[in-house]
Amino acid sequence: MIPFSPPRMDQLIIDEVVDTLKSGWITTGPKTKKFEKMLTAYGGHQSTLCVSSASAGLELMLRWFGVKEGDEVILPAYTYSATANVVVHCGATPVFVDINDDFNISVDAIKKAITSRTKVIMPVDIAGYPCDYDEINELVKQNEYKNLFNANSEEQKKLGRILILSDAAHSIGGIYKDKKVGNLTDITVYSFHAVKNLTTAEGGAICLNLPEPFDNESIYKYLNMKSLHGQNKDALAKTQIGNWKYDIVEAGYKCNMTDIQAAMGLVEIQRYDEDMIVKRKHIFKLYSSLLSEFAWVQLPEFENDEKKSSYHVFLLRIKNITESERDAIIAEIFKSEVAVNVHFVPLPLMSFYKNLGYKIEDYPKSYYHFSREISLPVYYDLSDENINTVVDAIKKAVKIVKAW
Ligand SMILES: *Cc1c(COP(=O)(O)O)cnc(C)c1O
Repeated sequence: MIPFSPPRMDQLIIDEVVDTLKSGWITTGPKTKKFEKMLTAYGGHQSTLCVSSASAGLELMLRWFGVKEGDEVILPAYTYSATANVVVHCGATPVFVDINDDFNISVDAIKKAITSRTKVIMPVDIAGYPCDYDEINELVKQNEYKNLFNANSEEQKKLGRILILSDAAHSIGGIYKDKKVGNLTDITVYSFHAVKNLTTAEGGAICLNLPEPFDNESIYKYLNMKSLHGQNKDALAKTQIGNWKYDIVEAGYKCNMTDIQAAMGLVEIQRYDEDMIVKRKHIFKLYSSLLSEFAWVQLPEFENDEKKSSYHVFLLRIKNITESERDAIIAEIFKSEVAVNVHFVPLPLMSFYKNLGYKIEDYPKSYYHFSREISLPVYYDLSDENINTVVDAIKKAVKIVKAW
C-alpha cells in the first residue's frame, strides 16, 4: 500500500529526541526557545511562540484580541474544521465565504461578508498555496471598513481595524512576492501536526507580526504566560536559585510545546528549504507532468510569478464528474493499493455546522471543487516509482468509473 502522508522520521530526529529525553528537561525549555528563534529567523516575522497545536494557537490569538459572543469571524467554507471550531469556542460566529478556483478564500466574497460585527478574517493557505494577501491586507485598511469596525477590547482599539489571523497550517515555507508565510499578515499560525510538512508529532507556532504601536516582544511574553495558566514564571525560570515564587495574573490556558516536540522541529527546520521543500516540489512537478496528458485532468495551481506553494497537498480535480463518481474513483484507486484523500469536505456539509443552519447551496464553488477533488500522496519518502504507480491507479480508476 502506498500510504497518504507518513511523517519523515530518520536517525537525526531520533537522536535529537533521545538527547532531549536524556537531558533531564522534557517540557518547555531550551529546545523550545531555540526552535522559536529559528522559526522567527525562517519566517522573517517579529516573534514566535510555540504552542501545543495550531488549533490552540488560533484560539489563543482570538482570545488575545478579545473575540467573544456577538462578534463575527470571516473564514473560508473550504477548510479543516479547526479554523471554524476555535471561533465557536470563543462564543463568536464563524461567517463562511466561498472560494476561488485555486481553493483559497475569495476576496470579493470577504468584502460582501464584512459587517460592523466583523473582528477577524482568517484566510487559509489551502494545500500550502498563499492567499491573495495584498488584497486582503489592503481591504481592512480601507476607510470604509475601518469606519465600520467596532473596537471593544484594548487590542481592538489599538489596531483600529479587522485583524488578519492567517491559518497557515499547510503553508510554512510558502512564498508570496518574495516574502515567506509568517511575514505576510498581522498574525500567522503554523501547524506541526503529524501529517503536516514539518512535524513535531503535535504542535504549532504563532508568528507575531503586528504593526506599530504593538510591541511584538512584549506580546510574546504575555502570550507565553497566557499559554501557561497565566503563571508569571515558567518551569524553567522557577528552577533558578531563589526563584520559586510565582503569581497567577489571569486564568490562562495550558497549551505550551514540550522540548521533546521542539527537538523534532529543530532538526526539520534546519533542512526544510533545501530538503523537504525541494523534495515536495519535485513530487508536485512529476505528478503534473505525468497527469497533464489526460483531457479529464484539472491540475492544481501551485506556483506562479508571485506565489510559491509549500507543496503540502496535491489537489487533483477530475473534470465533469459528480460527487458520487469521485467517490467511486477513490474506491477504485484504493483497490490498486494507493491511499488517497479529500481536502476538504466543506464545513457547511458537516453535521454540526449544518445543524447551525449553514447551507452548502450558499457556497457553490466550494461544493463544485470538493465534489471533483482527490488528494494524492505527497511525503518525503515517496519515490518516482511510487508516483508512477499512483498515476496508473488513477488512470485505471477513471477508466472503470467513466469509461472514457
Ligand atoms: C491541520 C489543520 C489545522 C489544525 O492544526 P492542529 O495543529 O492539528 O491543531 C488547522 N487548519 C487547517 C487548515 C489544518 O489543515
